[in-house]
Amino acid sequence: MTGRREVVVVGSGFAGSLIARVLAVQGYDVLLLERGTHPRFAIGESSTPLANLSLERLAARYGLRDCYELAAHGRWVENHPTVRRGLKRGFTFYRHHPRAIAGDARLAEERLLVAASPTDHIADSHWLRADVDHHFVRQATDAGVDYRDRVEVTEARIADDGVEIRARRDAATFEIRADFVIDASGPGGFLARQLSIPSGLGRTRTRSSIVFSHFEGVRLASEVEPHFPPGPYPDDWAAVHHLIDEGWMYSLRFDHGVTSAGFVLSPRGTASLPPEARTADDKWRSLLERYPTIAAAFGDARPTMPMMQRDRIQHRLTRAAGKRWVLLPHAYAFVDPLFSTGIAWSLRAVERLGLSFEAVRGARRLPDEADLQPYEQMLAREADQIDRMVAGAYESMAHFDLFAAQAMIYFATVSYAEVRQRFVADREPHPAWSGFLGVGDEVCDSLPRASLRRLLRITRGEGREGSRAERDAFASWVQRSIAPRNVAGLADASRHNLYPVDLDVLVDRHALLGMARDQLVACLPALRGVAPERDRSIALAIGPTMASARNAGPTLNAVGSGQP
Ligand SMILES: Cc1cc2nc3c(=O)[nH]c(=O)nc-3n(C[C@H](O)[C@H](O)[C@H](O)COP(=O)(O)OP(=O)(O)OC[C@H]3O[C@@H](n4cnc5c(N)ncnc54)[C@H](O)[C@@H]3O)c2cc1C
Repeated sequence: MTGRREVVVVGSGFAGSLIARVLAVQGYDVLLLERGTHPRFAIGESSTPLANLSLERLAARYGLRDCYELAAHGRWVENHPTVRRGLKRGFTFYRHHPRAIAGDARLAEERLLVAASPTDHIADSHWLRADVDHHFVRQATDAGVDYRDRVEVTEARIADDGVEIRARRDAATFEIRADFVIDASGPGGFLARQLSIPSGLGRTRTRSSIVFSHFEGVRLASEVEPHFPPGPYPDDWAAVHHLIDEGWMYSLRFDHGVTSAGFVLSPRGTASLPPEARTADDKWRSLLERYPTIAAAFGDARPTMPMMQRDRIQHRLTRAAGKRWVLLPHAYAFVDPLFSTGIAWSLRAVERLGLSFEAVRGARRLPDEADLQPYEQMLAREADQIDRMVAGAYESMAHFDLFAAQAMIYFATVSYAEVRQRFVADREPHPAWSGFLGVGDEVCDSLPRASLRRLLRITRGEGREGSRAERDAFASWVQRSIAPRNVAGLADASRHNLYPVDLDVLVDRHALLGMARDQLVACLPALRGVAPERDRSIALAIGPTMASARNAGPTLNAVGSGQP
């Protein structure tokens, strides 16, 4: 481990393992360091269509077949049945009111379902991170990455001629020299401390805390509330969001019967909890007591691990890249689990970094500060955008109608981005460089800021629900604003907040994508994903790799065994 390495990646979450693997496939000499061992628990489980799109592009470009297989629930189950996951057909939202009893008619009225896929086979998945991250680190070693676990990186010094890294394993400390370091260490952000990168948290408006665990025995919505009108998919096979006065709760059901759930609380919500509710268990119980409609599903559920809590979950730095170093998104910034942005954003960044290295690999080999500027600038704009979108959603939780309207901005933005990236064959610049969550889009870029301003006028920042006329005016403004990007038939009162994937609407709105009707119809099969062999020209362009040469020799370490 102590020789000089080209690239050291710190942290083997899925993002660290994937970037390490992408670089190994390109022929870089990569050392991946992890302070823990796999399998291990990690939070951040609900994936989205944009995440799948990145996985498919990574699969095509670098020949990573498993990424293609994991990008749709049906392919995942067929090809990787032991990597546990949950079926996610869309986003389900309910508004609960304190002390409302089960069977309350308002729950059916304050219900929003937005399908992300038309069938189970090509649906998204919740990632059981213990399994998924373990899978990706195994694949990284197979691709030639030198992976070492139980190694905590403690120091890094960036000099003109390289990076000096200090690490510790048990009682031993040692030094590694590298040409370049990638910080994939998540919110610990070890480089932030080493380089004294100032915090940028002041820019982040969203404030929330969390109480969470995994549970067995959570009842289905269909058991608890059998009176709902049928939706576009079964309510539970989704990222389920329970909106409450104090914030919201997520509930993600895995296929093996375990559910990941957590209350995400606004500062007002946290302050309203009884002062004696200090532990995570106390807070959990106190919230279930206030919301019998949630307790009906969770009352008999058993946590499979201790309940956990974290105070403010947001973090943000002011730099994401420099000479000989770069941060992955989760090391740089995190806003909130709302709208499940983390996995998709991280994968987009893996793609961009892969491209940045590719661009220089024949010559200088390593991207310099100027090469990484677009990456850094994009991440900063995107972190702001995620924050505005989520902050607006928290503001809109004052009333379900406001929330349902605000959510349309998110869904219009991501559905347009997905369809455009799948159908419109812009190869230059690479679609990975298109802005996440509408950044740089002439319609969507400004919407989260404008909607937050409007919402604050209604709520006064005090959670007021505004008048009926104000709420209707907000919903009409959203409907008009998203119209040029509304390929999914959103914000349509006749849908009663139940949105299927409607291909007829998509075909009718072909002009929004700048396509003729026939052209769009011909593209529809691409919604199922593009198998990597169809894009073989790209994978082959990478050429013979150092990874394949290294693979001829014995593997260097046993992943997950805890052995070096
Ligand atoms: C409460 C919460 C809920 C979330 N929910 C969602 C969601 O539903 N959907 C979604 O898309 N995203 C969600 N996210 C975001 C998601 O968790 C992240 O995007 C994702 O975990 C990023 O993965 P990663 O591989 O970059 O980092 P991580 O998963 O954080 O992995 C970092 C790794 O680095 C290792 N490490 C740390 N320090 C060191 C060191 N000094 N030396 C060696 N190794 C080190 C750690 O052990 C860990 O294995 C959520 C985040 C939070 C906080």
